[in-house]
Amino acid sequence: MTYMPPDVPGPDPSFDDREYWERCQHRRLSFQACASCGKCRHPPGPLCPYCGSDRVAWVDAPPVGELFSYTVIHHPAHEAVRSRVPYNVAIVAFPELGVRVISNVVNAAPGDLQFGMPLRLVWGEAGNGQSIPLFEKI
Ligand code: ZN
Repeated sequence: MTYMPPDVPGPDPSFDDREYWERCQHRRLSFQACASCGKCRHPPGPLCPYCGSDRVAWVDAPPVGELFSYTVIHHPAHEAVRSRVPYNVAIVAFPELGVRVISNVVNAAPGDLQFGMPLRLVWGEAGNGQSIPLFEKI
């Protein structure tokens, strides 16, 4: 499944988020957690923002999150998305983990989106072949 046209650049992993994207490539949405205090964080980083520990663990996301916020893009800011407007950019929350991820809701018209609605994790592919977490309304 693709949501964005293939010309839209995919993620370019950095040292800090390489494992996150590798897990995504295996269609496993996981969040970095602190192995000292247990709190999750996203995006991944070298130190826990809560206790400063550099000990890392990973926690798999539940299959359903909720729509925390969203916007609908009507004006194409780049030529690569001209054929895709209007599209949504959604912030999906996993309250039990205390993290949020930026994504898209693939099966929702702009008027279908409601704050707090449950969203199921599905997988898509960016133009560079990277598997990316997407969401669909249930
Ligand atoms: Zn910590």
